[in-house]
Amino acid sequence: MKVVFCASEVMPFAKTGGLADVGGSLPIALKKDGVDISVVMPLYGCVDQKAFSLKPIAKNVLKAKLDNVDVYFIKNDKFFDRQELYGESKGDYPDNLERFSYFCKKTLEFLKEIDLKPDVFHCHDWQTSLISVYLKSIYARDPFYAGTKTILTIHNLAYQGVFDAKQFSLLGLDQRFNSPDALEFYGKINLLKSGIVFSDRVTTVSPQYAEEIRKKEFGCGLEGVINHRDDHVFGILNGIDVDSWNPETDDLIVKKYSAHRNDGKAENKKALQKECGLDVREDIPIFGFVGRLSAQKGVELLSEALPEIIEMDVQLIFQGVGEEKYQNLLKNLQKKYPKKIAVHIKFDEKTAHQIYAGSDVFLIPSVYEPCGLSQMISFRYGTIPLVYKTGGLADTVSPFRVGSEQGDGFVFVRYEENAIVTAFKSAISAYGKKDVFKNLISKVMKYDFSWATSAKEYKRLYKQ
Ligand code: ADP
Repeated sequence: MKVVFCASEVMPFAKTGGLADVGGSLPIALKKDGVDISVVMPLYGCVDQKAFSLKPIAKNVLKAKLDNVDVYFIKNDKFFDRQELYGESKGDYPDNLERFSYFCKKTLEFLKEIDLKPDVFHCHDWQTSLISVYLKSIYARDPFYAGTKTILTIHNLAYQGVFDAKQFSLLGLDQRFNSPDALEFYGKINLLKSGIVFSDRVTTVSPQYAEEIRKKEFGCGLEGVINHRDDHVFGILNGIDVDSWNPETDDLIVKKYSAHRNDGKAENKKALQKECGLDVREDIPIFGFVGRLSAQKGVELLSEALPEIIEMDVQLIFQGVGEEKYQNLLKNLQKKYPKKIAVHIKFDEKTAHQIYAGSDVFLIPSVYEPCGLSQMISFRYGTIPLVYKTGGLADTVSPFRVGSEQGDGFVFVRYEENAIVTAFKSAISAYGKKDVFKNLISKVMKYDFSWATSAKEYKRLYKQ
């Protein structure tokens, strides 16, 4: 069985968020499990062609290896030779529809050229949704793709690829696809919707989120379309790349450590405090945050609760890029409380690893969270997550209570200032009980968030 995995970002080549982590680790796990899988992604300006030894293999297609997996890069400098993947802090690139419809078409063309006939296309998010549409339109009678099936994985339903109806003609599709049972969506065109309608199976990245998106509250207007595909929608929990996220072997952190010998964590904390210009104190807990600065990630709730939180004995470290208003909000907080808050407005793997390793508690107050990888990564680094109970966070973190062996995180269940403040208080109180906190660290560091289980679920779906 041949699978072609199409994604707009793949680690270590290009990343803005969790999709890249999945793109860079799930194919490797599937290959190890015997699936004949290749990956296709755009050749962005940020891909280091030299470092990854990219070689041309067809017109405007280059190839590299990711572990043992072939990765194909679609080259089109007009569309992809840019600093960012989808847009800059002021907004999305205006030609995103053209860019990603080109990517989907070119993928279908070049696979024919190199005679790589997939049994299954595994597509991700709106950027690659059109593959399923083109297979059922332009390529419907092409014997090369006869019998090829498609799976669409939704990593975040809020990002749908919605464009002005005027751009429909750029897609190269018959007008009949500009209808409510295809791409049309409230007078616009919606690429994610097209993927949900035309893919043979739809998955999302946690069982809880797969339930939530059927409801109005989380469906982002697509709940009707999703319910229409009811029997074909599944939730499969993401895993993480446990080799690159491993404090025992991580070269990006100051001192390596493990579940059994986790004293090294304190060294990472000290270095992080120094680096961030905070007081070097072991007795004060660091709350870390690494994430996209968007409304989803909950920076707003944090900033509302901050006047009360800042009165407590805490240090806060933020790293993120994204919307200007959240960048400014964080910068202002740092200015106001320089001894308690450090802010890095940047996308940087090395500091991210150091924050995962050096913090005591990891903040994930997301309004909604399809899966969330940060809580799994922070568990691996013995950093206890503080989360809102939603989506994949609800599937992976359960409330810790001092005095009981159960639970592993600080969880709030009402999306309110008071509730997050209470979660901070619980975290600080648990941190103050040295032995309790140490045992908790040892416990969570032993969790298995590798892809082994979830890769098997994808394999089962491919076979179906
Ligand atoms: P999402 O995909 O919604 O952004 P996830 O939790 O699924 O959120 O994945 C986010 C991934 O991106 C994690 O690996 C996180 O560490 C990483 N990340 C987010 N922002 C940054 C940043 N500014 N610098 C480095 N890594 C980041």
